[in-house]
Amino acid sequence: MRPRVKAYDHADRYPHELVEQMKQMGLFGATVSPEYGGLGLPATLYARIVMHISSVWMALTGIFNSHLMLALAVEKFGTEAQRRAWLPRLASGEVRGGLALTEPDAGTDLQGIRMTARREGDGYLINGTKTWISNSIEGSCVALLVKTDPNAQPRHKGMSLFIAPRGPGFTVGRKLEKLGYKCIDSGEIVFNDYRLPADHLIGGEEGQGFRQVTGGLELGRINVAARGVGIAEGALKLASDYAQVRKTFGKPIAEHQAIQLKLGEMATRARAARLLTLDAAGSFDRGERCDMEAGMAKYFASEAALENSIESMRIHGAYGYSKEFDIERLYRDAPLTCIGEGTNEMQRIIISKQWLKRNPVG
Ligand SMILES: Cc1cc2nc3c(=O)[nH]c(=O)nc-3n(C[C@H](O)[C@H](O)[C@H](O)COP(=O)(O)OP(=O)(O)OC[C@H]3O[C@@H](n4cnc5c(N)ncnc54)[C@H](O)[C@@H]3O)c2cc1C
Repeated sequence: MRPRVKAYDHADRYPHELVEQMKQMGLFGATVSPEYGGLGLPATLYARIVMHISSVWMALTGIFNSHLMLALAVEKFGTEAQRRAWLPRLASGEVRGGLALTEPDAGTDLQGIRMTARREGDGYLINGTKTWISNSIEGSCVALLVKTDPNAQPRHKGMSLFIAPRGPGFTVGRKLEKLGYKCIDSGEIVFNDYRLPADHLIGGEEGQGFRQVTGGLELGRINVAARGVGIAEGALKLASDYAQVRKTFGKPIAEHQAIQLKLGEMATRARAARLLTLDAAGSFDRGERCDMEAGMAKYFASEAALENSIESMRIHGAYGYSKEFDIERLYRDAPLTCIGEGTNEMQRIIISKQWLKRNPVG
């Protein structure tokens, strides 16, 4: 991807040929169990793959990461019939998609969504709008969060998650224009009298949707953390290469103390982000509760991505501002890692709540 990324990114073009290679490599089934046709990779290895790709092109990982969140919801919470029907096709990349949670009026406050699914005969009638959905245009299926009981109290008890393939009443809008995270399609989906048979309700029981969505957050946060690590490390590599060849006042800028201070901070940040992410992934693989660890990794690694990309840009001087150099792409891509899978404002609140719970007075 390295020789092609600039052309794709600047044209904001979907990388069909790379997606074909990703299918052959098994990336669309990276974390799906071998029993259902996936690679069954542990989170630690999955995170390392995401870090490696993101050090060059973070957006490419979004094409299989959001998709794997859909697969996780089916594998973890679906019925055996749903697993057998959907997972092999998701793992091969024949069916690709993502998670459709966010609405124009509800992102962080997911329980505030308005989309409804009304029971009708042996199926459901679905109406509403989702926005910012990754893989919504090039993909063909989403895990769709809806209200099956809009009046339920507490609100989460009225939420359900469906496997929603394209069909009549499922209309995809335009590709949203973004600062970065180019190529991958982020779009709006309008559901207008869209019908689904009851066997598309994940797990077969209404009221479980919020639990099912939040049940995938640990792996989701490890994946965004890994993207942050990749950007932080990629920005560091670009900066240290450049600083050793660019000369001012008769010596490479890497020999000026002001640049050394920056590189020292960037290297430390990137390493800390990597270790936090692998620590969270290790806990996940051992089956331990790791919401706090995954939150810390996601928060720290995404901020490291943002800080390292801007510091690297400064080290590049005017060339950092040029579209001919790679650092401007990392700089545009980094902020998304602070928003996705729970904003960093929410992340710190979650970390703090967990910390206090685990550390009562005395
Ligand atoms: C490129 C891109 C791809 C995306 N892909 C997907 C996708 O595939 N599927 C999907 O469902 N969504 C997707 N999203 C949406 C994303 O998950 C939401 O943007 C995110 O959850 C934040 O929601 P919001 O934008 O509505 O912000 P809001 O919830 O309106 O928040 C606005 C600000 O208020 C802060 N805030 C909110 N509540 C609190 C609180 N209680 N305490 C303190 N601060 C608070 C937030 O941190 C933020 O700074 C994507 C977004 C982008 C930009």
